[in-house]
Amino acid sequence: MSNYIPMKKSQITIPVKEIEHSPPHAAKSFWLHDYGAYSANRTLDGGLSCDILVVGGGIAGLSAAWHAARDTSARVVLIESEIIGYGASGRAAGWVMPQFGMDQMSIRRKYGAERSQAAFQYCRRAVRYTREIIETHKLDSDYRHPGLMRVAFDDRWIDGLRSHYEMNREFGADNVLWMDGEAVQSEYSGNKNFKAAMFDPDLGLLNPCKHVRELKGLAERAGVEIFENSPAISLDRIAGGTRVATPRGIIRADKTVIATNAYTHQLEGTLGREMRRLQAPVFARGAVTERLSKEQWKAIDWGSGNALESTLDLFHYMAPTADGRIQFYWIYYGGHSLFGEMQPEVSDEGGQMSLAHLKKIFPVLKDVRIAHNWGGHMSGTRDLVPHLCFLGDERVIYVGGCWGHGLAINHLHGQTISHMLSGRSSELTDFWIVNRQPKKWPIKPFDGIGKQLAWAWLRRRARKQLAGSIFENATARQ
Ligand SMILES: Cc1cc2nc3c(=O)[nH]c(=O)nc-3n(C[C@H](O)[C@H](O)[C@H](O)COP(=O)(O)OP(=O)(O)OC[C@H]3O[C@@H](n4cnc5c(N)ncnc54)[C@H](O)[C@@H]3O)c2cc1C
Repeated sequence: MSNYIPMKKSQITIPVKEIEHSPPHAAKSFWLHDYGAYSANRTLDGGLSCDILVVGGGIAGLSAAWHAARDTSARVVLIESEIIGYGASGRAAGWVMPQFGMDQMSIRRKYGAERSQAAFQYCRRAVRYTREIIETHKLDSDYRHPGLMRVAFDDRWIDGLRSHYEMNREFGADNVLWMDGEAVQSEYSGNKNFKAAMFDPDLGLLNPCKHVRELKGLAERAGVEIFENSPAISLDRIAGGTRVATPRGIIRADKTVIATNAYTHQLEGTLGREMRRLQAPVFARGAVTERLSKEQWKAIDWGSGNALESTLDLFHYMAPTADGRIQFYWIYYGGHSLFGEMQPEVSDEGGQMSLAHLKKIFPVLKDVRIAHNWGGHMSGTRDLVPHLCFLGDERVIYVGGCWGHGLAINHLHGQTISHMLSGRSSELTDFWIVNRQPKKWPIKPFDGIGKQLAWAWLRRRARKQLAGSIFENATARQ
């Protein structure tokens, strides 16, 4: 525990304001609901030509556009189908974490030590870089950097956690700490449900909606022209570039960055259709509790404000929000939907189940309730490795497919994309996932069957791990 520095308890504020506004996209996430009214930029109306067109206004698109405008004198235009942050970037839990796609152990098993080491370094760099952007440009994103406590809530989970810790040390993360039962319990009021933990200081938390809006401001100040409510309805290659049509406009661009993430399969036109099977949407869910009282925070002694996760893959991602709630996200009740709906129903089942698990960890929270449930689509690639590549030739760049870990990596991808756009070879463009041609998902119906089997296997594994643990009888109906 030598260099474990908890946040000051005063850094978690518990304001009295209640949710009072209801902006147009409010239902899409707690953050979009909670954070201020928003006036979208104008819709594209008519034709224009630009040097660089970015399609999609999530973190990947905004970061790419900002870097391109900052690093060159190019005319950079970004179009977003709804409002910026409408996709996963405005619905995420807000964890700025050093990971992509699959966990580090699986990357090593599949791609060997050298590539997994490179991925490890790129992801860690991405977290540092995200923080640097926020701090340098004073972005008001509610950013704090409390680290992650990865916990074994059952004695049987300790060995797996220990291997994870040892692999982190092997890869050079010498700031990662092992905490035995007594050490971790002392962080949470002596709570005996914490059997052991790994503390990783490389994790930040932010408010995704505030952050994308700040990033939009940064991009605009660098000269990016942003059009909202302007979906690309068809993308075609033409001599010397691409032609992108929106309902009321046409853009001719020398170079195009496609950052439409989980919506990419919906693109039309010759270029759009080329991308149809490169990724598949994965539905993930989030929820927040109502605000906890000062007495409740004191009782659970989670004052350091770190993110908390267990060793399970589909469950147990929890963190305090800047306004004194506890937020959850999970994929247990999600995955690839059978019929590819992009607006599935969001029941309260997952939020209630997460709350039931929270109450098993902290029984003193027995009266806490869920305040808001939502869901959104991440982009699933076939081999779980994100996509960042030229398509066909160097005029089109496609970025996406970060599964659940795109917040940090997409900030750094923006810089990598800027190097790719200017034809510069760098340490970033040498990273092995860059310009790796994406594996396509199989054609229907085979892909659907395979995906459902894979999710069923993951859920079965999670249920097995939960059996016999404190969570065994925790149900959504409690
Ligand atoms: C519930 C949930 C929780 C998550 N939690 C975390 C987390 O804590 N930490 C983390 O790192 N990651 C998390 N993720 C994943 C993370 O949100 C994504 O990896 C990341 O935001 C992807 O950014 P993006 O810019 O690639 O995609 P998106 O944010 O999805 O942006 C794509 C944009 O393209 C727009 N678009 C689509 N089609 C068109 C078109 N035809 N024309 C113009 N625009 C178009 C969309 O409206 C959207 O705004 C979570 C995801 C979900 C759903």
